[in-house]
Amino acid sequence: MTHRQLFFQHIAQTTDFPLALEIDRAEGVYLYGPTGETYLDLISGIGVSNVGHRHPAVLAAVQAQLDKYMHLMVYGEYVQGPQVQLAQALVASLDGATTTYGPIDNVYFTNSGAEAIEGAMKVAKRFTGRTELIACHNAYHGSTQGALSLSGDENFKRNYRPLLPDIRHIHHGSWADLQQITSRTAAVIMEVVQGEAGVRVPDPAYLHAVRERCTATGTLLIFDEIQTGFGRTGSFWAFQDVAVGVAPSQRAVVPDIVVSAKGMGGGMPIGAFMAPEPLMAVIKNNPMLGHITTFGGHPVSCAASLATLQTIQNERLFADAERKGQLIRSLLVHPLIREIRGKGLMLAAEFDSFEVLKPIIDRAIRPQSNVPGESRPGIITDWFLFCTNSMRIAPPLTITDDEIRLACGLILASIDSLATHQLAAMV
Ligand code: PLP
Repeated sequence: MTHRQLFFQHIAQTTDFPLALEIDRAEGVYLYGPTGETYLDLISGIGVSNVGHRHPAVLAAVQAQLDKYMHLMVYGEYVQGPQVQLAQALVASLDGATTTYGPIDNVYFTNSGAEAIEGAMKVAKRFTGRTELIACHNAYHGSTQGALSLSGDENFKRNYRPLLPDIRHIHHGSWADLQQITSRTAAVIMEVVQGEAGVRVPDPAYLHAVRERCTATGTLLIFDEIQTGFGRTGSFWAFQDVAVGVAPSQRAVVPDIVVSAKGMGGGMPIGAFMAPEPLMAVIKNNPMLGHITTFGGHPVSCAASLATLQTIQNERLFADAERKGQLIRSLLVHPLIREIRGKGLMLAAEFDSFEVLKPIIDRAIRPQSNVPGESRPGIITDWFLFCTNSMRIAPPLTITDDEIRLACGLILASIDSLATHQLAAMV
């Protein structure tokens, strides 16, 4: 049987129409199929490959760690070099972020984003002694039952009820809704830039107001930086540069808990939630082992993550994200594109409808060799869970200007070929 046949026979399917691209190897922004098909990855495996695929520094760190040890013991018992070094570097990356409860100096490592969200929810409930959690409409925080309960889209939740009780939803960006945050609320969980909602960047003043309301009501503020962190929006963490053009001291909106995953591992699975020690301390007692994981903080993933973090910081990849994002905006100009939203290299190009967008995505992804001797890569884009009329554009931060020009040119060509086709069909 071919790999494709085995995929359909034995891999649990999540839709009736998976992409089913067969990939043999990957490097930088490119993926390669078994017979040499080339694809340019404009979505970083959904927000993961911020340093590109198989970055040499990440490979070297993984290989070096493989030569020492892999799993030794469940989370939290042994002193493991890659874990403690990564925790130190993560805390340093927060630039001394300090809340009412002290500096964010403690890191709990998980395997995934959803698992980190679960841990943050538990810590918030224990620390505050409150049960109500507030999340946003159109938010996505993961697919486990706790994270799903926070999800702001009924369609994904309906058939999995009962989910967690005492969860409320507010509109991301609505000042009026802030009144719903009260002294009953354990935590507000929010993306700094909403991803699956179709890349919605809030008014910086709104995020400051959320912070103020949480502080006033003794509510913890949890920022889900799973898509936005590790340089994606133009600063290392999105919360560090909420307002452009004001004094650096006023740019940050510091949460009480930061949640990370995705791009953090440079292609290896890892997540984390980070908080001041007094918050984290709640999981030590009553019961002890209040949050446990076998593989969380796997040493190979931690080594990969540290190399990723150092690469982004040493090469200041985040500093160029906004300029590259602007280049994409300047190139992707077409009557069918209604607007381009976003920050840094986290972008959404909006079309009239899913019906207009989907054929463009399908056309762009097909590698083509129209011109003899010249092959053109397929361009991998996508839409969003809760925004199906917008094209996801979030390439590796390492993408070059030439690669951006190539990708945008091929997207425009795909739009044009379909537009012409559709027009011809209408005549
Ligand atoms: N939070 C956000 C903002 C995400 O985009 C995602 C995944 O897309 C998650 C949480 C869940 O992360 P994971 O898929 O690693 O569980």
